[in-house]
Amino acid sequence: DKALKYIEKIEKSDINAIIQLDKEKVLNEAKELENNEKLKNKPLYGKIIAIKSNINVKGYNISCASKTLENYISAYDATVVKKIKSQGGLIIGMTNMDEFASGSSGETSYYGATKNPNAEGKIPGGSSSGSASAVAGDLCDMALGSDTGGSIRNPASHCGVVGFKPSYGVVSRQGLCDLAMSFDQIGPLTKSAEDALLLTNIIKGKDLSDSTTVETPKFEKNEKQVKKYKVGIVKEFMEVSDEKIRNKIEEGIEVFKDMGCKIVELNYKYTDLALPTYYLINYVEFFSATRKYDGRRYGYPIEEVCGEEVLRRILIGKHISEQEFSGKYYKKALYTRKLMKNEMLKLFNDVDIIVSPTVPKLPHNIGKELTPMEMYSYDVLTVPTNICGICAGVVKCGNIAGNPVGLQIQGKPFDDEKVLNAMIEFE
Ligand code: GLN
Repeated sequence: DKALKYIEKIEKSDINAIIQLDKEKVLNEAKELENNEKLKNKPLYGKIIAIKSNINVKGYNISCASKTLENYISAYDATVVKKIKSQGGLIIGMTNMDEFASGSSGETSYYGATKNPNAEGKIPGGSSSGSASAVAGDLCDMALGSDTGGSIRNPASHCGVVGFKPSYGVVSRQGLCDLAMSFDQIGPLTKSAEDALLLTNIIKGKDLSDSTTVETPKFEKNEKQVKKYKVGIVKEFMEVSDEKIRNKIEEGIEVFKDMGCKIVELNYKYTDLALPTYYLINYVEFFSATRKYDGRRYGYPIEEVCGEEVLRRILIGKHISEQEFSGKYYKKALYTRKLMKNEMLKLFNDVDIIVSPTVPKLPHNIGKELTPMEMYSYDVLTVPTNICGICAGVVKCGNIAGNPVGLQIQGKPFDDEKVLNAMIEFE
């Protein structure tokens, strides 16, 4: 019944969050679930879940919102999808996204921009735009997104929902179409932090098909521990942010203070290195990942049909991968990545979590032309998490002129439980 209710809502919806809905398939699977006694007491039983279009779900078109893969029907379930199904979850459909997860606004999809149900006319954020807006628009119970440099957290912030990027290695990437494999991590977009904890526990775990994964103990709910946290505030993260956003986040920090947390001021002197380090590595890894889209195995040759941002990354990625440039860009980026990581880990010697804005500026109107640098500047506070392999969650902490604002909480590698518990309700 619930599945049917969501299907009808999706059919009527105009936010373009779900780009593939197979009503019959969903209803058949719902019936099968109802008749399966074994799944009835599983933790995800009865939960309706939407999946980002770069994660393989058998029988669906995994398009990455690109013309390149418009006819590619997946023959298998990604590890995370297998886990969801085995725990009683029902997949409702595939969500819209920026093409190949390359974007911060949800506007570069071959299937058109996603709309933000909580801020009319404004971008929903990206690249997991459809997953966030489907959750915000109540078209599903929860959704999966992927986060290479903020793609779960940025749309969670703009849409006013909860998002969590696990530490690198907590969740299997098997069956995820890579944007940049050394940064990518799959994670939940949900209506509550409790649901984010639930879904993370289901999808995580060591997977022999992804050698970067490790086994982690079950993340337990323990809100009481939060009042003992030392909460770090990084001066540079606050300074790069719009004043109104900064003030909102300061209100959130007051809530931690009132709970009894100790607030610690920190400096992160490599904040300026975040965007150049991230984008150089992203271009090179993305270029390499796209070589399989040559038109022989799947769909169309990518360079012939892709959008402008994807082409930019392929061309620059190709250029800077050439041997003569390797010392000039890529190796330097690997070096600054190491610097950034070491410095970040040092900060966690003094604090349990670091609290900051998620995005440093308020969202633009859908359709406004931005330069690549203006678009990339949305990412300055989210890419350090991926560069350093740490974890981060986002929860709504208020509104500014009708735009939801998300507060970001970062934790050191494998402190996912600590962060999930710190994702308290601010309203
Ligand atoms: N906006 C960033 C980029 O375009 C992040 C994307 C993502 O996390 N998938 O690369």
